[in-house]
Amino acid sequence: MPPAQRRGTTPKAPVSAFPVAAGEDPWTEDEIEEIRQELLSDIRRMERAIEVAQAGLADLFEEGSDGAGRDPADVGSSNFERDQEMSLAQNAREMLEQAQQAYRLFESGHYGLCEICGEPIGKDRLQVFPRATMCVSCKQREERR
Ligand SMILES: [Zn+2]
Repeated sequence: MPPAQRRGTTPKAPVSAFPVAAGEDPWTEDEIEEIRQELLSDIRRMERAIEVAQAGLADLFEEGSDGAGRDPADVGSSNFERDQEMSLAQNAREMLEQAQQAYRLFESGHYGLCEICGEPIGKDRLQVFPRATMCVSCKQREERR
């Protein structure tokens, strides 16, 4: 690696830089590593889910194109399947974006702060839901809108 590039690489954010909520114990190396693995496996899982959903959709569209003379009930159920597959793919895409966003923050050392109020999200919440980019109160406010 040329020296200029090596200078440009930022060292991994120290574990002590990851924020915790008031009263929580600081993060340990193991806990941080667990979160990293969790985020990575979320990303891989969602990518796969999207592929599967897209393959499923392609099949359904193909079936639909030669649907002449089929029982209308069959056509109806395949439209239903198509809607199902589409919302599945949509959900997976949203979750993938969330996971990627959380992972970017993680890598840049900005993980664990609420993107709305800037307060620590809290270790308890992140360990249950590593993709969280908002604290509980901001999330609840968001959902009420
Ligand atoms: Zn917040």
